[in-house]
Amino acid sequence: MLAASVLVRHFDEVTVVERDKLPDGPGPRSGVPQARHAHLLMSGGARAIESLLPGTLDSLFAAGAHRIGVPNDLVSLSAQGWVPRFPEMQFIVSCSRGLVDWVVRRQVLRDNKISVLTGTEPVALLGDRAAVSGVLVEDRISRSQISLEAQLVVDATGRGSRLPAWLTALGLPAVHSESVDSGLAYATRIFRAPESASDGFPIVNVQANPRDPHPGCTATLLPIEDGRWLVTLSGTRGGEPSTDESSFVSFARSVRNPVVGELIADAEPLSPVYGSHSTANRRNFFERIRSWPAGLLALGDSVATYNPVYGHGMSIAAQSAQALDAGLSAGRGARQIQRGIGKVVDGAWAMATNQDILYPGAVGKPLSLAGRVLQRYTERLVRTATTEAAVTRVFLDAFTLSGPMAKLMSPKVVWATMRGPRRSVSAEPTLTADERERVTG
Ligand SMILES: Cc1cc2nc3c(=O)[nH]c(=O)nc-3n(C[C@H](O)[C@H](O)[C@H](O)COP(=O)(O)OP(=O)(O)OC[C@H]3O[C@@H](n4cnc5c(N)ncnc54)[C@H](O)[C@@H]3O)c2cc1C
Repeated sequence: MLAASVLVRHFDEVTVVERDKLPDGPGPRSGVPQARHAHLLMSGGARAIESLLPGTLDSLFAAGAHRIGVPNDLVSLSAQGWVPRFPEMQFIVSCSRGLVDWVVRRQVLRDNKISVLTGTEPVALLGDRAAVSGVLVEDRISRSQISLEAQLVVDATGRGSRLPAWLTALGLPAVHSESVDSGLAYATRIFRAPESASDGFPIVNVQANPRDPHPGCTATLLPIEDGRWLVTLSGTRGGEPSTDESSFVSFARSVRNPVVGELIADAEPLSPVYGSHSTANRRNFFERIRSWPAGLLALGDSVATYNPVYGHGMSIAAQSAQALDAGLSAGRGARQIQRGIGKVVDGAWAMATNQDILYPGAVGKPLSLAGRVLQRYTERLVRTATTEAAVTRVFLDAFTLSGPMAKLMSPKVVWATMRGPRRSVSAEPTLTADERERVTG
């Protein structure tokens, strides 16, 4: 939808080819199964969406999404300790993924130059290895096919994209791809938030430490619209949470700190437990194909997926749509635009894969010496960020995809990181007595 909102600025007509029937509301649908699980929209992604579709954030908040100040409204145990609740530096939009999709879709489809062919799938690219000239699409029920001619085709079919195979069918070389898979599994359940905690409650999040000699397990509580809490548990290979309802709270209590389990112990469940194993980091380096054809681009999960615990996929997709807009506005060719999208992906890709390769049983290319040094540096930086506000800011700017990663290496930050934390880190969850009382009391 975000890509469509960009394309309509540059072309007379845009057709979205969509496999699903799109619901008229924020409900789940089969084409986006991950929508059942926690979807944090980082401020960097939220600003990108707002710049493409002004008014979206207000619409989201009006529909019940929560604006979570970061780190002031965040109770978060990082790999290196509790993140202090310093005054707001960034923010996260906290609501269901279905709500994000619905609000964005409503905004985008107001433009009648954009049409959606639902219940339809692309089955092949038209054209040749030099230039793509459209797609062959198929109706999912009647199996009838039509050729859609187009000046530009953008693949945004997500993690199941068949673009690599379509490229080789055109006679192009196989795309280089990489993956790092920690074997992570997700389990998610929705609860009714206690009435006194249904508004103004923080995100509560216990992360894993990849250096621990056992699987990395996490628990995250997100306040979402309609007075609900969405709770996602995760565990890497060997520590996967079950989708058995009876073990949900005990798993939440068993992670590095039991706070999420304690908060939901008496909460009323509103849904079954949903599971997901779609969590590997996987990247197609389309930008490296020298003979990339004219008239074709890819963005979103079709290019790269990330371990979802980092909460970066939607934001990178939105920033890639901005890169698409910048490239088309500057009159750049397809390969150059695809390279621009690759640059948007780089930071989030490095952040996720450098951590994930450490988990026991992780599958992927071992890190180079430079990568290992960077990993140690990042750990020390995150530890320093647990007490030094200036470092916390730079780290959170990078983590919310709001500021340049390069700042993590600025002389000031390197110096502060080398010096390390200057106070001791809180040993207890940073939940206030009032917040705890609103749940237990
Ligand atoms: C468990 C889980 C949790 C996540 N948590 C977060 C998070 O906290 N924060 C975050 O930012 N990101 C998160 N992500 C990542 C996020 O879901 C994706 O990065 C994001 O949805 C990518 O957007 P996309 O448009 O590329 O793909 P998708 O959102 O997957 O959309 C693909 C679209 O293409 C359609 N489609 C697919 N195949 C075809 C086809 N063959 N023909 C026609 N249409 C097709 C689908 O119906 C859908 O409409 C999570 C992912 C998972 C798996």
